[in-house]
Amino acid sequence: LGGEYDVVVVGGGPGGYPGAVVAAKSGLRVALVEEARVGGECASFGCVPSKALVKAYSALGLVRRVWGSGGGGFGGALAFARGVAGEVVSGLESLLERVGVEVVRGRGVVLSGRRVRVGGSTLEARLGVLCACGSEPWAPRGFRVDNVRVLDNRGFFSRGLPEGTESVLVVGGGFVGVELSLVLARAGFRVTLVEALGRLLPGMDRDFSLLARRLLAREGVSVRLSTRVDLVESRGERVYAVVGGSGEYYDVALVAVGRKPRVPAVDGLEVEGGFVRVDSCGRTSVAGLYAAGDVAGPPMLAHKAMHESVRAVECMMGREPGPRGPVPVVVYGPIDMVSVGYTLEEAARVYGAAEEVRVPTGGLAAQRAHGVVDGFAKLVVARGRVVGVHAAFPGASEASGEASLLASLGVPVEELAGVVHAHPTVSEALWEAAMEYLGGGVHVVRGRRQRRGSSTTTS
Ligand SMILES: Cc1cc2nc3c(=O)[nH]c(=O)nc-3n(C[C@H](O)[C@H](O)[C@H](O)COP(=O)(O)OP(=O)(O)OC[C@H]3O[C@@H](n4cnc5c(N)ncnc54)[C@H](O)[C@@H]3O)c2cc1C
Repeated sequence: LGGEYDVVVVGGGPGGYPGAVVAAKSGLRVALVEEARVGGECASFGCVPSKALVKAYSALGLVRRVWGSGGGGFGGALAFARGVAGEVVSGLESLLERVGVEVVRGRGVVLSGRRVRVGGSTLEARLGVLCACGSEPWAPRGFRVDNVRVLDNRGFFSRGLPEGTESVLVVGGGFVGVELSLVLARAGFRVTLVEALGRLLPGMDRDFSLLARRLLAREGVSVRLSTRVDLVESRGERVYAVVGGSGEYYDVALVAVGRKPRVPAVDGLEVEGGFVRVDSCGRTSVAGLYAAGDVAGPPMLAHKAMHESVRAVECMMGREPGPRGPVPVVVYGPIDMVSVGYTLEEAARVYGAAEEVRVPTGGLAAQRAHGVVDGFAKLVVARGRVVGVHAAFPGASEASGEASLLASLGVPVEELAGVVHAHPTVSEALWEAAMEYLGGGVHVVRGRRQRRGSSTTTS
């Protein structure tokens, strides 16, 4: 252990390993310091197991509808999700080994932009240190997370729910709370979701909040908005919670109220809003020290982390990376929600005037095969170009690449209308929206158009 490297990366999550791989493939000597498992929160306790569970229960919903059968224990589904997470982690370990990244096990203490201490050894970095230290579950005082009955995402995915659980309190109506409430309700638990603000998915377009509420109600989740939870603790075999001022009992509580960036203690490191302050290359205020991923600012998402990771090492190697497009936000469920680029209001502010076209997607053939009638696709258009896509339909997460491409490149609506979309596929929704904007979608009886900016009309 110890020695000289070109690049030392601290943290093996999505903000760390992609940069390590790119640097190693470029011929640099790279060390990646990781105290737990490579893949970070995403692979072990976040994106991967949560999406494996969502998939398992989305499929179960379809099976039940088609064949009318119930069943399927939650323990089995969680074991499946852990299995998928395990495969992803071993795949990453083998990738790192094959490209020549040296994985150093232990907690890294960032000393400067050139030095990292791990145990008794010091790693020297010729080009720079990338801090991809990520984030950890956060809860306010009064939330006694013991990962027995009061769980955060790590306890939930590693231990599961205690035997005999019937009722679950989910605290937090962000994407983690919404996704896991849908899964737990479909698995047969009695779920209560409590959110302090007046709507679910508070950072996203209002249409998503309304849809999430409908989906949760349909699955039997009791949603309580504008309600504060002040205390949650295990009491014997149950959980006691003070919800909206009164005491209530549940079998389990799942806390999904927020995450805290793991900012290293380095002299001169500037922090803004709790995150390490970085420029577009990931450079911090400390010479040689770069940061990427959750530690470097919102949105705290794995794909944003991966992009920043690669950009940071490219900058260390002296390559100036090109501009980055907007970061898509995706919420997974029986109906996926995708949001990328400007909302109508934002676009009107930036371009002076903007329009939005919204089409319902329930009539599209591919969507009917999912047995789901809700859904919409919205394009935000400024100066004839797509600058935002906000859509919710089954499988929309798979259309998020196309949505990002449209919003990143600012594709003219006429050109989108000229792109042939395979039928039947759910991404036809984006084409229908473009057609509707230009005068009439094929499978849409009536869409909705709004304009903001120089004048405001609704039809
Ligand atoms: C339940 C849940 C579901 C999610 N689902 C999605 C999703 O579907 N899509 C999405 O894009 N994002 C999702 N996220 C967010 C995503 O997990 C994070 O944005 C992503 O993991 C951030 O990557 P990161 O590398 O910055 O940090 P992390 O994944 O937190 O990785 C940091 C790593 O660094 C290690 N580390 C930290 N400090 C040190 C040190 N000093 N020494 C050694 N090792 C250290 C940690 O052990 C960890 O492995 C989800 C999060 C949660 C909680």
